[in-house]
Amino acid sequence: MIEVRGYAAHDDHSPLVPFTFQRREPGPHDVQIEILYAGICHSDVHQAHNDWSNSLYPMVPGHEIVGRVVKVGAEVKKLKAGDIAGVGCMVDSCRQCSACKEDLEQYCEQGAILTYNDKARSYKERPGSGQLTFGGYSEQIVVEERFVVKVPAGMDLKAVAPLLCAGITTWSPLRHWKVGSGQKVGVIGLGGLGHMGVKFAKALGAHVVMITTSPEKGKDAKRLGADEVLLSRDTDAMAAHALSFDFLLNTIPVGHDVNPYLALLKRDSTMVMVGVLTAIEPPVTGVSLIGGRKNLTGSGIGGMAETQEMIDFCAEHGIVSDIEMIPIQAVNQAYERVLKNDVKYRFVIDIASLRDAA
Ligand code: NAP
Ligand code: ZN
Ligand code: ZN
Repeated sequence: MIEVRGYAAHDDHSPLVPFTFQRREPGPHDVQIEILYAGICHSDVHQAHNDWSNSLYPMVPGHEIVGRVVKVGAEVKKLKAGDIAGVGCMVDSCRQCSACKEDLEQYCEQGAILTYNDKARSYKERPGSGQLTFGGYSEQIVVEERFVVKVPAGMDLKAVAPLLCAGITTWSPLRHWKVGSGQKVGVIGLGGLGHMGVKFAKALGAHVVMITTSPEKGKDAKRLGADEVLLSRDTDAMAAHALSFDFLLNTIPVGHDVNPYLALLKRDSTMVMVGVLTAIEPPVTGVSLIGGRKNLTGSGIGGMAETQEMIDFCAEHGIVSDIEMIPIQAVNQAYERVLKNDVKYRFVIDIASLRDAA
């Protein structure tokens, strides 16, 4: 076994603290990665705090991971020692269900195994089955090749980390619903996911409207690629945009009234929820959907092939996340700032700060 240092939450309210644990030695299909950077997703905060009532402790969060490959198993083909690799929200899945066969491992009918806050099930009877999975706020990780992407040369690695969740979670629905030129697309919520949504929608050729509760973010929204900024609390401005959007990507992290957003959609258009996992309250009114035959749907991260496609697209188009780097010792303050909506637009932990700590 490999001894690894990280930071863990031990319950739903105490700060994250240093924690040492074991990872398996790489098997024939495994990639061992020395982690360089780990993004802080709002999901890390939700899970550390048990907001989704499914938290397993001790919990080492982190599913936006970039690092250097240090060792690969004999059967590994796409990566070798020295390559730069990325790991996102999943580390395993059944490989046999219809979703897995269509490269949609995130929708595995047996349940994809999450990078942290999950138990390694015995899909392949590998060592460590039944143990908790531990994420990227740590020095090293061992992951099977299928769940590792290759990061193209020349990218700014600290700003690549958030692509592994915020990037793919926004890329996947934009691609699935074929967002592109000639369309008016709204991205709701300018945070980690939202700022990637704006960059991608713009790069795909759409007319992009940033829909925000924060007037002070308007300038940044334009810099990130938005053509217009719409303040969701300004009812006159919302009314002026009624029935005009081809697509809405909603990243708001908590239950909220979706009816005013549905009113923005054109007939037959779609709003995709990626932010809120708990109850959508107050209720969706039937007429918000019936009037105009509108679609309200959701989307979860993205498959591994699609994640590679997204990273390659980013390399080609010079797209990365806008980040604020922190040492791991500041992780608890960063969590507080996430909750205060004070992030521009993703915290990334420099794992050197963990490695260098005595
Ligand atoms: P984030 O960085 O905190 O950004 C969320 C943004 O939503 C904020 O910047 C804010 O934007 C807006 N917002 C926050 N509270 C709000 C409220 N009460 N009412 C209206 N708007 C509000 O979070 P994130 O990391 O982007 O994650 C967003 C959500 O997506 C989280 O719940 C996370 O768990 C979830 N998530 C889902 C998936 C998936 O697979 N579906 C993957 C990753 C994350 P403005 O200031 O612009 O209004
Ligand atoms: Zn995430
Ligand atoms: Zn499956």
